Amino acid sequence: MTKSFDVVVLGLGAMGSASVFQLAKKRKRVLGIDQFSPPHQLGSSHGDTRIIRQAIGEGEEYVPMVLRSYELWREIEASTGKQVLSITGGLIMASTKSEASLHGSNGFLNQTIRSAQKFGIDHSLLDAHQIQSRFPQFHLAGDEHGYYEPAMGFLFLPAANGVTVKTSAGRYTADRLVVSAGSWIGPFIGQDLAPCFKVYRQVLYWFEAKDSIDAYGPGNFPIFIWQFGGHHDDFIYGFPAIDASDGGIKVASEQHIVDTDPDGVDRKVHEEEISEMYRNYIRERLPGLSQKCVRAAVCLYTSTPDSGFVIDFHPQNRGVLIVSPCSGHGFKHSAAIGEVVADLLIDGRSQIDISKFRINRFSGNSS
Ligand SMILES: Cc1cc2nc3c(=O)[nH]c(=O)nc-3n(C[C@H](O)[C@H](O)[C@H](O)COP(=O)(O)OP(=O)(O)OC[C@H]3O[C@@H](n4cnc5c(N)ncnc54)[C@H](O)[C@@H]3O)c2cc1C
Repeated sequence: MTKSFDVVVLGLGAMGSASVFQLAKKRKRVLGIDQFSPPHQLGSSHGDTRIIRQAIGEGEEYVPMVLRSYELWREIEASTGKQVLSITGGLIMASTKSEASLHGSNGFLNQTIRSAQKFGIDHSLLDAHQIQSRFPQFHLAGDEHGYYEPAMGFLFLPAANGVTVKTSAGRYTADRLVVSAGSWIGPFIGQDLAPCFKVYRQVLYWFEAKDSIDAYGPGNFPIFIWQFGGHHDDFIYGFPAIDASDGGIKVASEQHIVDTDPDGVDRKVHEEEISEMYRNYIRERLPGLSQKCVRAAVCLYTSTPDSGFVIDFHPQNRGVLIVSPCSGHGFKHSAAIGEVVADLLIDGRSQIDISKFRINRFSGNSS
């Protein structure tokens, strides 16, 4: 079957998608075709941001186009409610010795100045000393000249979005994916990042009180964390007894020596482990507890090299948010982390500072 359009646009990067948008706005029947699923990371229109400047150093002929683009970016912001353009001010500087052309323009800095003068674009000219004192972050050779334009800034590129999740129950597409798969996280984030997360088997024990359990009930006995040795696993923690007298008192330690995988882990708690726990950790420190263990359970820690959380977009796909706050201390934060996730996905930032939880602290990848 042949379908008919006014225009077919082949390629939906920055240029093609802007063309489709304008044609559709002018009520043309337009079809956009792309070999991939834009916005993708395979062509020229990805990588978070692009510089925008008014006085174009590549040539004066570009200035009317960029000035119109500024207007249109603002219109797009107004109609979508999303920030596209961020004005930061911008500096172009060149050494007096620099003779190389940039983007085909010999004397890029001088052409920038000529474009600004011709189109009345607000700017200031700076010598090396002025640049250095205004922006001490740069270490200049001393022979630079600079052009500062307050209206320069950057454009946000659309995040490569669109994820497809295939399950045995079906295939689902969405703009974003939150990977909060705990100890099973590895296969979902790729082999570069998976080694940042190791899984450790832990055991929880409920030991019976020798005498009345009342001494260990809430009000008489606190939650506790007790460090006693030189190794980071030399500690125990515990809770007040919350069940009936036969419920026991919950105590545990941690181990970060033998890692495991969540599907192959031994889920059974063995008698030897119980006796070892009682002998090595409990008997002397909580002498009111008997060696009778009324209950035990295996639990999994998903630990990072520094035991900190990871809440960050995937470095290779900003559509995927990795949420891995475990390392044995995450649950208390889960209510707020749900809110952080929603803020990140809806507003692009969270009220709570999560900059310490970036994944590039392990991989060196930028995110
Ligand atoms: C690293 C980098 C930094 C840059 N920095 C800046 C900057 O700071 N400021 C600035 O103004 N510009 C900058 N640019 C330039 C700017 O990003 C590009 O000019 C612009 O993105 C080009 O868009 P495009 O649509 O022509 O190409 P693309 O984004 O590559 O789009 C082409 C599309 O065509 C599709 N396609 C191709 N063949 C087929 C086919 N056979 N069937 C179906 N679809 C097909 C592709 O899949 C692709 O989606 C930068 C570019 C890069 C790469």
